[in-house]
Amino acid sequence: AKQRGKAGHVRYEPGMAEPVLAHFQLGAELRRALDAGEFRVFYQPVVGLADRRLIGVEALVRWQHPTRGMVAPAEFIPAAERTGLIVELGRTVLRETCRQMAAWIAEFGPDAPVKVGPNVSGRQLHDPGFVADVRAALADHGLSSDRLVLEVTESSALRGRQVIAALHELDAMGVTLALDDFGTGESSLSLLRAFPASIVKLDKSFVDGIEIDDGDPAAGDARQAVARAVVQLARALRLDAVAEGIENEAQARALRELGYSLGQGFHLAPPMPAEKMTRLLAAARSA
Ligand code: C2E
Ligand code: CA
Ligand code: CA
Ligand code: CA
Repeated sequence: AKQRGKAGHVRYEPGMAEPVLAHFQLGAELRRALDAGEFRVFYQPVVGLADRRLIGVEALVRWQHPTRGMVAPAEFIPAAERTGLIVELGRTVLRETCRQMAAWIAEFGPDAPVKVGPNVSGRQLHDPGFVADVRAALADHGLSSDRLVLEVTESSALRGRQVIAALHELDAMGVTLALDDFGTGESSLSLLRAFPASIVKLDKSFVDGIEIDDGDPAAGDARQAVARAVVQLARALRLDAVAEGIENEAQARALRELGYSLGQGFHLAPPMPAEKMTRLLAAARSA
């Protein structure tokens, strides 16, 4: 039986095949899926923790598989990275995100909270055509560059002069850069010096259990210490801090008390298809 998660996707099961064979099959299937246009972009709101106001949106890819249903990125992004197909997949997501943003701005006006952040893999950043792809995607839809947030994971091969140069070029263009999964990498602090980020996203692993205050420094209290350090660092560096993976009200409250004003998570709003996001934007307009 399929396991349907909260985010509305099922686990990809390669069936009876040998692992190596499954790997090749997955690569071939990804190629086919790209050509068939089976990838969908879901959108998850980023909201103000005090007033629940919509601030922006994260773009998350899903694979609408003809027989397996909605497949989560964890089941195919690693294979896409290994095969290099992530560059084309990432470009597809970027273009679709920009197309959707332009449609929302046309419908809800320039003041609507339409600021969307797709995730970018390290492999994409190493692609010499990446900055040009971003520029073209924005220009093709008449979008101002400050509409686009690129979420880059700390660990995702952010080293190298070429990657850092690309990030600075994007920053100079006016694109917002967010450092994703913050706190999980090896050298978050030194990275922040070289990386022109304006947003840090506190990793969900520090949010899980943050509401549990039992005096045990090994559990909730340690996470609180990290969460507090990250928000203080963000404030000192004039970055926005977003807490990820908030699953209940107690976590939202704990994070607010620690100084977070922005959050994301199933408790606030799950990732959703574009049509549902459109209804949310319509509700935000009339609110
Ligand atoms: P991420 O960038 O850290 O994205 C957040 C993940 O947490 C998403 O999983 C989202 O659905 C999930 N999430 C949000 N709120 C909650 C919550 O309250 N509880 C829990 N348990 N989970 C929550 P998703 O969509 O399955 O994506 C997983 C990862 O796959 C992403 O992690 C990102 O690293 C990667 N990914 C997703 N889309 C893309 C893409 O277009 N390109 C690339 N390169 N990577 C992507
Ligand atoms: Ca992300
Ligand atoms: Ca994250
Ligand atoms: Ca504790």
